[in-house]
Amino acid sequence: MGRLVMKFGGTSVADLDRIRNVARHVKREVEAGHQVAVVVSAMAGKTDELVGYVEDASPDYDRAEYDMVVSSGEQVTSGLLAIVLQEMGVPARSWCGWQVPIRTTGMHAAARISAIPPENLLKSWDEGRVNVIAGFQGISPEGRITTLGRGGSDTSAVAVAAALNARCDIYTDVDGVYTTDPRIVSKARRIERISYEEMLELASLGAKVLQTRSVELAMVHKVPLRVRSSFDAPDSPLQVMEDGRGPGTLVCDEDEVMEEQVVTGIAYSRDEAQVAVRRVKDKPGIAASIFGPLAEAGISVDMIVQNVSTDGFANITFTVPRKELRRAVEVLEREKINIGFEGLDTADNVAKVSIVGIGMRSHAGVAAKMFRTLSEKGVNIEAITTSEIKVSVLIDEAWLELAIRALHSAYGLDAA
Ligand code: ASP
Ligand code: MG
Repeated sequence: MGRLVMKFGGTSVADLDRIRNVARHVKREVEAGHQVAVVVSAMAGKTDELVGYVEDASPDYDRAEYDMVVSSGEQVTSGLLAIVLQEMGVPARSWCGWQVPIRTTGMHAAARISAIPPENLLKSWDEGRVNVIAGFQGISPEGRITTLGRGGSDTSAVAVAAALNARCDIYTDVDGVYTTDPRIVSKARRIERISYEEMLELASLGAKVLQTRSVELAMVHKVPLRVRSSFDAPDSPLQVMEDGRGPGTLVCDEDEVMEEQVVTGIAYSRDEAQVAVRRVKDKPGIAASIFGPLAEAGISVDMIVQNVSTDGFANITFTVPRKELRRAVEVLEREKINIGFEGLDTADNVAKVSIVGIGMRSHAGVAAKMFRTLSEKGVNIEAITTSEIKVSVLIDEAWLELAIRALHSAYGLDAA
């Protein structure tokens, strides 16, 4: 008998019919002899609606009260699922984050989980119940309700699985992690197994299946994570086998990933804007005078390129999240005398495409192939960044889909 955490996202619990469908998945696992904890999101769209109320109430709202309001969607779905399970003859009870308790830092709206004492959940299991836990929520050291940031119920689920020493199945509206967005590349393939590190890169580079933090947590605590569809029939024969084969995508340790591809997936983000700081002195301290004030303003800078000219001046170009562009320009204008630049150019019609794969560590020429493929399509590269297992390029947004399709073929990822 195994311990299992099942997490269901907003579209999977969007109405009572779907909650009943979720309950059937849960019942199947209970009947297979598992001890089950379920973590649920709010109904699809609910959290956005609640955030809207808060923003309308005051532009300068108290973050603790924000958490009080926006955490409520999960309270509703956890209670409803417990009721529906009971109705099907499966003993169950709901838990708010504070009742478990899911202890977090006091950083409202972006809290981090610090501890989950498992005793209450274990006792409830001993009494034969399914534990249905409201995702996204926790309790601060001051005893206030906190939330974990948007998409945080993935993180709740992984943290609960780590605390209970369980495996974790994330049920969502897609049947796994794909080599790239199937809406852009119709030949995108479901990935059977992917390493934590690759998943982490893909999630932070823009793939939206899992909250980045949840993958980080799974990696640290070695929680086996499976992403699968809640729309598969609950009694379908597609169940998880002892050897780890099964539906969806298994996110696991690198040495459990068998088929090794050089590039495993392609991620993209349209959430990019570019700033060029024109003609700054090419001398020590200039980069610090630009990026120091941006960091102080909490603006995260991603790709950085410096071109040096012969007359002792340089252009420094970098990217920021699109919604931070205006603030970034304000900060730089304010610091203009300090930095001593001639002018600023900005563009928000840029996008980032990234190839990710642990195979890059041991294969040469992976980046070169990316650049060649893009040049053959006439796509100009504005900036490049790399890490051990990824290469990202910044391009004109108009070429984004073309670029992704070309790369997907070039690295042999197209489905047959
Ligand atoms: N309901 C929250 C959100 O929409 C948390 C989650 O669904 O993961 O961000
Ligand atoms: Mg989600």
